[in-house]
Amino acid sequence: VAQELLELSPSSAANFKSCPQLFKFRSIERLEEPVSSGQARGSLVHAALERLFAEPPDRRSPDHASALLRGLWAEVRGDPEWRPSELGVDEEDRWLRAGESLLANLFKIEDPCHVEASRLEWWVECELPDLYLRGIIDRVEEDRDGSWILTDYKTGRTPGESRELAASFGVRFYALMCWRSHGVLPRELRLVYLADPVVLRWRPTERSLLAFERQLCALRDAIKRAAARDDWRARPSPLCLHCSFQDRCPAWQETAQTD
Ligand code: SF4
Repeated sequence: VAQELLELSPSSAANFKSCPQLFKFRSIERLEEPVSSGQARGSLVHAALERLFAEPPDRRSPDHASALLRGLWAEVRGDPEWRPSELGVDEEDRWLRAGESLLANLFKIEDPCHVEASRLEWWVECELPDLYLRGIIDRVEEDRDGSWILTDYKTGRTPGESRELAASFGVRFYALMCWRSHGVLPRELRLVYLADPVVLRWRPTERSLLAFERQLCALRDAIKRAAARDDWRARPSPLCLHCSFQDRCPAWQETAQTD
């Protein structure tokens, strides 16, 4: 990493910000992780929404969304990349119903029949000095005036007010990529939290994206320094409770010994 073009996605960048040791396990050593129940449900809901918005508008009903979710599950339920490791066969129905209620919540905050998505699950990338950014945007809508609205679905809980800016890291990352690689400054960024359900919105400006770009360049430098010294600090936080690498992490081992 120290000499190569550093590659970052919103999640790998967020990993380094929250815990450099976690970034090392995931992005440098590329260790395998079991699929958690929440992650698997999130992937299934995202895939069902992609199919829903690819349907003609008059077919986008809550029942059809549920049918798409169940159809997808029938296709992937035996696949270890989709199936949560701890999900028993007798728990599947309850687990799927939780996914269906996330989909049903979307209809409380918008009418999907009136959404004209120009791109779904759209791969974007761009290069900055010594840095390659990539990511997949859940949904892009284009208004008649040509302006773009980017939407990112979240299946976890809405963050508290003090964490809203941090939660927008991913959508700002996407906005920067749209601006740098397509010359389009999106008009609005939306985070759709399906569990509550709540929509958080931001209007990016050139100034805010330039500041965000500087933030990413500083992150690039910090990662390169960590790589050059092979010094990946573990940063314990409440995230540790859900971390797949507890057995390998020196900080977690220390905590376990002191308890
Ligand atoms: S257990 Fe905590 S400190 Fe260790 S790698 Fe995971 S998140 Fe980082």
